[in-house]
Amino acid sequence: MTAERPTVAIVGRPNVGKSTLVNRITGRRDAIVEDTPGVTRDRKEVEADWAGRTFTLVDTGGWLPGGTDLDAKVTKQSEQAIAEADVVLLVVDTTVGVNDGDERMASLLRRRGGPTFVVANKVDSEHREPDIWEFATLGLGDPVPVSAIHGRGTGDLLDLVARALPAAPEGVDPGPAADHGGAQGEDAFSVAIVGRPNVGKSTLFNRLVGEERSVVHDLAGTTRDSVDTVLETDGGRVRFVDTAGLRRRGKEAEGAEYYSLVRALQSIDASDTALLVIDATEGVTHQDQRLAERIDAAGSPVVIVLNKWELLDDERKAEVQHQVADMLAFLTYAPVLKVSALTGLGVHKLLPALTQAEEAYSRRVPTAVLNRVVQAAQAAHPPPNAKIQYATQGAVHPPTFTLFANRDLPPTYLRYIERKIREHFELGPTPLKIRVRRRGG
Ligand code: GDP
Ligand code: GDP
Repeated sequence: MTAERPTVAIVGRPNVGKSTLVNRITGRRDAIVEDTPGVTRDRKEVEADWAGRTFTLVDTGGWLPGGTDLDAKVTKQSEQAIAEADVVLLVVDTTVGVNDGDERMASLLRRRGGPTFVVANKVDSEHREPDIWEFATLGLGDPVPVSAIHGRGTGDLLDLVARALPAAPEGVDPGPAADHGGAQGEDAFSVAIVGRPNVGKSTLFNRLVGEERSVVHDLAGTTRDSVDTVLETDGGRVRFVDTAGLRRRGKEAEGAEYYSLVRALQSIDASDTALLVIDATEGVTHQDQRLAERIDAAGSPVVIVLNKWELLDDERKAEVQHQVADMLAFLTYAPVLKVSALTGLGVHKLLPALTQAEEAYSRRVPTAVLNRVVQAAQAAHPPPNAKIQYATQGAVHPPTFTLFANRDLPPTYLRYIERKIREHFELGPTPLKIRVRRRGG
């Protein structure tokens, strides 16, 4: 984070058109264009402007000259250029399609995070445009079609790049940069404990805090007058959102009111994960259901706690479990824990369940494996009159998958694919999103 000019690194296999793209962008011919694949070149830095932004373009040579096999290694220059760059352009050749080298580079870039664009080069005409979607499987977002040689699409590409650059001192609005979740703030994941009054939230929370014998600190919360509690646990830091009302012991009627629905909804929105506490002696009520719907709509993972479990006889236990399956059916993915905040029964399972939910919520799956899973599912049970060509995970929080298909897919079929993806990648306790994109339009 220096005050220096932002840098844009251009990476990709030999011969995909990196130098041609640099020449196109700078309007000069100072990058060397070689026709021999694999020729190592020096890292070239040239200045470029777009939309009032000046940045340094770093053209990397790509790969070292091939060794005995095609186990292409990224050159030192490329590695360094990638590490230092604010934005990375991975150039690929649409006339060739995805190959090993592209995949390796993409996997490196996915780990890096930060704004990255897949530049699908050599789209010299509209006819080639459908071919770019194959590169969506690289898991770096929608490919951007360009023809470096003719200049087709390069303006749009530069618009995207300019928006993804770090905020400009000139006051240029950086706009909605690519959604890659920066590495800043290695923060604890956050949990909202929600439920109707008197279900046992405070009792549960105080037991959690007490039982863990962990370091606990209170922090100013995200909303005014709110307090968050951070627990240092074996599974990492967990931040419980808006806990002032929960920590207050021997609270009065005012305390019960504290966790009004509005407050609960705010804390759901302010946190990654929700812990929905239900009073098992009363079963699932309409209000519990409303809260659950709200959590589901927020797209957060949820752990359901059936509290006061020690008070139930076997018959009632079965009844309540049926109620959960029935009334909270839309939360099929949510783990259901039976606990007694009063006696401590089952409480130790809570933090691990939350940690797992959070982990699944943030999971990124390998594109190649994802495509194998989707293709296997499709082979076992083909969609009616349609075909899924590729699948890619576009985002996390929650894991969001895009299926590229030649036709629309019915909801039942999407649920089937969702189940397969969920099973294979053990995405258990998190919600997922599946979108379909008609390829070629
Ligand atoms: P680099 O090795 O990635 O830097 O690739 P170059 O810029 O040297 O280009 C490799 C070859 O692809 C050259 O013959 C270019 O003329 C050709 N090329 C680059 N961009 C395009 C393009 O947009 N369309 C077509 N058809 N060919 C291109
Ligand atoms: P909150 O309003 O959701 O924070 O609920 P509280 O934690 O204040 O609990 C409400 C009442 O339920 C209190 O009287 C608690 O002692 C009682 N309670 C909480 N958890 C349990 C439990 O697991 N078993 C039983 N029997 N009572 C509980």
